[in-house]
Amino acid sequence: MFKGEWNDELTTELKGLWAAGKSAGVIAREISRSAGTCITRNAVIGKVHRLKLDGRRTIEARDGHERPPVPADRKRRRPRPKLKVWKPMPKVEPPPQLTEQPPTNPPVLLFDLEKRHCRWVIGDPSAMLFCGADRAEPSSYCAFHMKQSRVRS
Ligand SMILES: [Zn+2]
Repeated sequence: MFKGEWNDELTTELKGLWAAGKSAGVIAREISRSAGTCITRNAVIGKVHRLKLDGRRTIEARDGHERPPVPADRKRRRPRPKLKVWKPMPKVEPPPQLTEQPPTNPPVLLFDLEKRHCRWVIGDPSAMLFCGADRAEPSSYCAFHMKQSRVRS
């Protein structure tokens, strides 16, 4: 146990070793050798506290020396999953603001389409089904679909 006084020489050495980043245990050994007596690690820590040198870690961390750099692979270990964009099917239903009822006649196939038939595509365009109700001249659509085409455009 260190019973003697911390003279200037030992204090200066302590400060130097502490500033060099040595641990309290290492400093205790070094100073014990210089002082020719046994200085414990606790004595070193106590002196460091009294000298208010114990902020070393905080200061170094702020300067960026203490903190190890984050490995690059850790940064991009979890890639953000790509969000699947859900594309809604094109609406075939009339907008709710339309009060008129859609034609009740069955849809007409492309081959059966006549001049008087409404050209409004029913459902999937690849099915080539048309409304087939009587056209509202001069529109190529029936009254109902003529209104709907105006709403959409
Ligand atoms: Zn129609």
